[in-house]
Amino acid sequence: PLNPDNAGLAGSANDSLQPYWMPFTANRLFKSKPRMFVAAEGMHYVTDDGRRILDAMAGLWCVNAGHNPPRIVRAIQEQAARLDFVSSFQMGHPLAFQLAERIAELAPAGLDRVFFTNSGSEAVDTALKIARAYHKVRGDANRIKLIGRAKAYHGMGFGGLSVAGIPRHRRDFGPLLGDVDHLPHTHDLTHNAFSRGQPAWGAHLADELEAIVQIHDASTIAAVIVEPVTGSGGVLPPPVGYLERLRELCTRYGILLIFDEVISGFGRLGAPFGSTALGVTPDLITCAKGMTNGAVPMGGVIASSAVYDAFMAAPEAAVELMHGYTYSGHPLACAAGLAAIDTYEQEGLFARGPQISATWEAAVHQLKGAPHVRDIRNIGVLAAIELTPREGAPGARAAEAVEHCFAAGVLVRVAGDNLVLSPPLTISPDQMTQVVETIDAALRTVA
Ligand code: PLP
Repeated sequence: PLNPDNAGLAGSANDSLQPYWMPFTANRLFKSKPRMFVAAEGMHYVTDDGRRILDAMAGLWCVNAGHNPPRIVRAIQEQAARLDFVSSFQMGHPLAFQLAERIAELAPAGLDRVFFTNSGSEAVDTALKIARAYHKVRGDANRIKLIGRAKAYHGMGFGGLSVAGIPRHRRDFGPLLGDVDHLPHTHDLTHNAFSRGQPAWGAHLADELEAIVQIHDASTIAAVIVEPVTGSGGVLPPPVGYLERLRELCTRYGILLIFDEVISGFGRLGAPFGSTALGVTPDLITCAKGMTNGAVPMGGVIASSAVYDAFMAAPEAAVELMHGYTYSGHPLACAAGLAAIDTYEQEGLFARGPQISATWEAAVHQLKGAPHVRDIRNIGVLAAIELTPREGAPGARAAEAVEHCFAAGVLVRVAGDNLVLSPPLTISPDQMTQVVETIDAALRTVA
């Protein structure tokens, strides 16, 4: 599988690159200097010029078991030959029911109803719609406000964008949902710099929900959505006690709590879900990415039976939730999802997080004192190295550092001034050292 011979595009005229409008990419820059991956296996990608790149990002926070695990490859191949597609509207196929059952078993107690989507963005929009419809179906139709948080990433749908908190993502798209408010983020280097795991300072920031309730009145608020660990906003572990406080306030005021576990789900924090790892149970969980180990697009919302049951008071022949996607519960995705869970369980990857997180923590914190480093944060098998930005050029130094890492054979992601790390859970201690040494060398190179 590591043979780059089938590169296809290698050496082709750049004209052939023009029709593809690439997502979240500087298209012209990319097309003048394409960076093509043609194969992958385990911890590595292979580029079209035959270089092996250590993947310290698990693709895009999704390939938690490493690339191309044989069980998943086989499951997809066999399923494609057996049943390519069947609608999930008013009909079904066994794998969707099996996958929902397996996910319900892995999810925190009480969260045992699974709605399938095709991405994290769709999962978020679905969860927000379920939250509003839940209150409506219970006769509480005034509860429509959705509370997000600064620095949050909840995908690119209008719903997710509305509750998200990264200004650059929001600014070009006109009015978003109106009935939205935001909690403050918890990132504060005067208190939390170089913290290991959950920072000690910041639980009180959850009390800002109390202030929001005072302004809008609890009777207008449908849901609060947060990533248990802010991901794309720069890997911000929740302060000790913060999620507990949010849970307490949501329960007190009848507000649904949604954890966006698109990154933290499926082993990233050392348990099947971040909720379990962090000991706080929301009413709804969104997931995607690691759900199929990234192999087939899929997302989902895991709901408490209390939420699900509220919809089931409708007459039996009524469609309880007017929502769904053509590809909800797609057979290929379900096959990949079942094989991914089998892989995580049989390779012991849910248990591996806690085993390696101490080694991981020690490794990444070795970068303290390297040039430009002003913070290092880690939790589970996630980390961010935050750099002091260059005057007037936020993000430029981090972007250059990541380029150096790539040239040296390690794929690292940039998020603002952060170098972000989220390797497959299969990473070895030697590979951790390689990642850290490569970043260290890059930081000594960039101005
Ligand atoms: N929510 C979170 C927390 C994410 O990190 C992401 C993607 O990175 C999404 C939602 C959106 O997922 P997708 O890109 O699959 O739509």
